[in-house]
Amino acid sequence: MIDSKKKIYVLDASAIIFGFSSLEESQITCREVLNEVKYGGAAPYRATVIREGAGPRVIDPSEEYIEMVKKKMDEIGEQDLSEADVKLLALAIEFKEKGWRPVIVSADYSIQNIALAFDIDVEKIIHRGISKKIRWISYCPSCRWVGGVFRGGTCPRCGNRLKRRSSA
Ligand SMILES: [Zn+2]
Repeated sequence: MIDSKKKIYVLDASAIIFGFSSLEESQITCREVLNEVKYGGAAPYRATVIREGAGPRVIDPSEEYIEMVKKKMDEIGEQDLSEADVKLLALAIEFKEKGWRPVIVSADYSIQNIALAFDIDVEKIIHRGISKKIRWISYCPSCRWVGGVFRGGTCPRCGNRLKRRSSA
């Protein structure tokens, strides 16, 4: 790596699509995120962004950091993350461990939630992000049954599909 304790932007698909860029700091993303941008929809704008070539450097995270992210997702009941999101978070954690100061740029609440759990800074775009960790719990929209950490599945009382809501 070039040098340490340096700020580095970790861009998710929305950040790239909305053209986030910084002249001063390095920008990275992972292969899956870039694919999401390229093939995740037919907007010609996306192609333009990629063609300009000013995009982030693509780096693949190590397996151990991917595992760390998945473990944390289980812990706090976060399931709304794509493979691309998981790898992006893993990449940020990896850079943090190597002494950088990663800042994830994202509009996604689930990414922000996990980033917070790892004490990684997030620059929120579009939506105003969350300021504290969300813990998702299960509830049943039909009979109002409320359960523990959200893991999907069906209501033990009436069999309807469970939804999740913030416990806070
Ligand atoms: Zn129910």
